[in-house]
Amino acid sequence: MSILVTGGAGYIGSIVAEELLKRDYEVVILDNLCQGHRQAVLPRAQFVAADTCDAASIDEVFQSYSISAVMHFAAETVVEFSVTDPKRYFHTNVLGGINLLDAMLRHRVYEFIFSSSAAIYGEPESVPISEGHPKAPINSYGESKLMFERVLEWYGRAYGVKHISLRYFNAAGASQNLGEDHRPETHLIPNVLKAALDINRPVAIFGTDYPTRDGSCIRDYIHVVDIARAHVLALGKLETLGGKAYNLGNGEGYSVLEVVQAARRVTSRDIPCQTSPRRSGDPAVLVADSSLAKEELGWTPEHAELEDIVESSWRWMRERPNGYS
Ligand code: UDP
Repeated sequence: MSILVTGGAGYIGSIVAEELLKRDYEVVILDNLCQGHRQAVLPRAQFVAADTCDAASIDEVFQSYSISAVMHFAAETVVEFSVTDPKRYFHTNVLGGINLLDAMLRHRVYEFIFSSSAAIYGEPESVPISEGHPKAPINSYGESKLMFERVLEWYGRAYGVKHISLRYFNAAGASQNLGEDHRPETHLIPNVLKAALDINRPVAIFGTDYPTRDGSCIRDYIHVVDIARAHVLALGKLETLGGKAYNLGNGEGYSVLEVVQAARRVTSRDIPCQTSPRRSGDPAVLVADSSLAKEELGWTPEHAELEDIVESSWRWMRERPNGYS
């Protein structure tokens, strides 16, 4: 029996697949390679190049492989673009997911782990944010993730799909072999490290007038390998905890400027910055209360220090300055 990992050639999906393989699960990766990288698929995984919106190809995957559970990462993920082009987000993140669920039902597969996001909460009323916090997304990315969590609830009630949603705060860092290579790169830590490699490419600080301690946005950065480990734990708990959602974060918020300072310490390089206007769709502060994941999944982040997270990205970036190409 295999675990189907959609989006398994992407940043988080590939590292989850790696953790599954380490534990001797059989893994089938499905990815349309629009944003994923074939080189991020480890040799021991089966690979299918297909889109979650393509019902016939998805059906074929379930026919060809004996799938016991699905981990669903395939998605449009850039918050900023979701403000200007929401249709792509609803199409891929909601319709693609429903397509997948319907194929699961046809093939009697009932276990599902969903890659959700802190973006479902919107601008927080209070921090740290626990799972019960009101959900009021301020961008279509968050809205699409919330919609799909709700779809899952109904598929759970009506058809018995056992599901756990994992709401990530800011995934960052790299594993020994796999890391972050988005094109274009929109994420803070890789952009800061690119500026460390090339002083002619200053990092843009998107907004210095937020109501925070230094005016820049505050985020909770969580190591991607810790996120991956939570998926493996969730898979083992679907039977007992199915239907629930868990925040994954360290519970510690760092401002954009503090991340730049941490990267200066890690790299011992000067990192030029450029003050820029706010980026649309960005809440001022996102910090997780992840106590539920700790209590119920038995999850403990192993790389909670920001500098360790930045250090792992830095190592990966220096080994692969051109990413996967
Ligand atoms: N950010 C920034 N410069 C960049 C990339 C990001 O100032 O080059 C800021 C962004 O506005 C946000 C924070 O860094 O406040 C984290 O952004 P990222 O895209 O890494 O993750 P997100 O919070 O959007 O999921």
